[in-house]
Amino acid sequence: MTKGTTSQGTRNDKSHTLCRRCGKRSFHLQKRICSSCAYGATSKMRRYAQQYKAMRRRTEGTGRMSHLKTMARRFKNGFREGTQAAKKVSA
Ligand SMILES: [Zn+2]
Repeated sequence: MTKGTTSQGTRNDKSHTLCRRCGKRSFHLQKRICSSCAYGATSKMRRYAQQYKAMRRRTEGTGRMSHLKTMARRFKNGFREGTQAAKKVSA
């Protein structure tokens, strides 16, 4: 077997496709399970402590943080809502 023309004929089969939860090309088409995040098998994300670098890459703070990024500022003011800031008059 060579790495050239003859072996290229075996490369027309696709076992994994893009996972709709983690975005990696790890979703097995026949098993319907993602080998990276276990989508299709469980509702919880697949993660192991021995893969601490993989946990670091996909943990809290690696995405947009669309909710959590406002929480520290809102907590500081006691989650007040519906108020208007007092106008500052410069002297
Ligand atoms: Zn996945």
